[in-house]
Amino acid sequence: MKKLQNYINGKFQPPVSDEYIENIDPSRGVPFSLIPDSGIEDVAQATEAAKAAFPVWSGMSLNERSEILMKLSKGIEDRMDEFVAAESLDNGKPVSLARQVDIPRAVSNLSFFATAVLHFASESHYMEGVGINYTTRKPIGVVGCISPWNLPLYLFTWKIAPALASGNCVVAKPSEITPYTAYLLSEVAVEVGLPAGVLNIIHGLGSKAGDAIVRHPDIKAVSFTGGTATGAYIAKTAGPMFKKLSLELGGKNPNVIFADCDFEDMLATTVRSSFANQGQICLCGSRIFIERSIYDQFKNAFVEKVSRMKVGNPSDIETRQGAVVSKDHMEKVLSYIKLAQEEGGTILAGGHQVKLDEPYDNGFYIAPTIIEGLSYDCRTNQEEIFGPVVTLCPFDSEQEVLKMANATQYGLAATVWTSNLKRAHRVANQIHSGIVWVNSWLVRDLRTPFGGVKASGVGREGGWEALKFFTEPKNIFIKE
Ligand code: NAD
Repeated sequence: MKKLQNYINGKFQPPVSDEYIENIDPSRGVPFSLIPDSGIEDVAQATEAAKAAFPVWSGMSLNERSEILMKLSKGIEDRMDEFVAAESLDNGKPVSLARQVDIPRAVSNLSFFATAVLHFASESHYMEGVGINYTTRKPIGVVGCISPWNLPLYLFTWKIAPALASGNCVVAKPSEITPYTAYLLSEVAVEVGLPAGVLNIIHGLGSKAGDAIVRHPDIKAVSFTGGTATGAYIAKTAGPMFKKLSLELGGKNPNVIFADCDFEDMLATTVRSSFANQGQICLCGSRIFIERSIYDQFKNAFVEKVSRMKVGNPSDIETRQGAVVSKDHMEKVLSYIKLAQEEGGTILAGGHQVKLDEPYDNGFYIAPTIIEGLSYDCRTNQEEIFGPVVTLCPFDSEQEVLKMANATQYGLAATVWTSNLKRAHRVANQIHSGIVWVNSWLVRDLRTPFGGVKASGVGREGGWEALKFFTEPKNIFIKE
């Protein structure tokens, strides 16, 4: 079995512990590679390498840094097929999705920030007759980037690209559940000649390797994407160390459908926004609110479409619904389906595990599941399930749907369907979330602020927001 290695100071290294963790292929439920079980010593080595590289990397011209990051971007693109296959194998997502979304987006994350940094500027504030303030923005130093398993390389590069572009050196950890494409990225980094120590990739468990990153006194900022409970733990640890923190956390997103929407467009998009990546996208709409006058029409059409969705082996190019990421996660999702029934919900589609033929018979598959008849405030409608499970709930008025949509601790993203422009603005403005899509879903412009409110996070990624996070502003005043 392939043994992945850490990437520290420009070289591949085994973990100091010499211990490895099995990496499971969710489509078959069997291990296919081993990843380093890293800890404090590995993170310490990576941080020393990053500290040593910082003066050179931060001292390079913007153009030089930009060119190297463009080579990283191109390096992934050149090995597209390999990255696509690895992402699908590691995560269970269909190869078609990895090819259309995950890997192209990783390529553009790097090229976007490689060029964005060339246009980034800081402010000046003139005080008439008094003097001028100008603000400099310098890289922070060594920063930590920790990412989850659902969009592995996509979210990993979404952090390291702005961190590196703005001149920081990075100690990064991908999820131990989906480490493979981050490992391939370290191969690309060697191929394109990224200077040693600028990017260090440590593999291992969150509670060991991740925690060591958060606690290391020389790692001055942590950009984290993952679950809300982990985010709270990181905030508790890093807060008293006065680290800069960006936390992108969980969601329980509402999809609000008014009767005057474009029904066919809404229906097709809602199938995607519910079940893309087996519902394991933090932006998926898991609570679908439908205006009562079209409730039955929507329910029948939606159930009909979803019941026809075939769950299949992710490496088959025809598959649109693959495996969920792990056995633990499958069991968690199935336990929520059981809970929904205990809470009085009716299963309209799915609701069960799917057994495929050999060799996929031990894979982690769940039929796309639709549930109705639950109150908006029951646990099923309050807690993040993060799988192929959605609930339907009718509403009678704008006021009522806003109350229900806003009734969770989360506030990441929302979708609103209506052809009434005034209502679109009104509702979008009153939904408690960092992102609202009107008559669309997951249209992403990398310049826009990305992130959530309430328990969905602190801070924003994307565009200038990310470059601001990864730099420290200093105001200098000069008397006239
Ligand atoms: P997770 O919190 O379990 O793990 C995320 C990462 O943090 C992993 O790399 C993990 O190893 C590491 N980690 C775990 N414990 C740690 C600790 N104590 N200290 C430091 N690092 C630690 O999350 P997950 O299960 O990998 O991902 C799913 C979650 O991520 C969902 O809640 C989902 O909504 C959220 N998510 C949010 C966004 C967003 O942009 N807001 C995007 C994608 C996923």
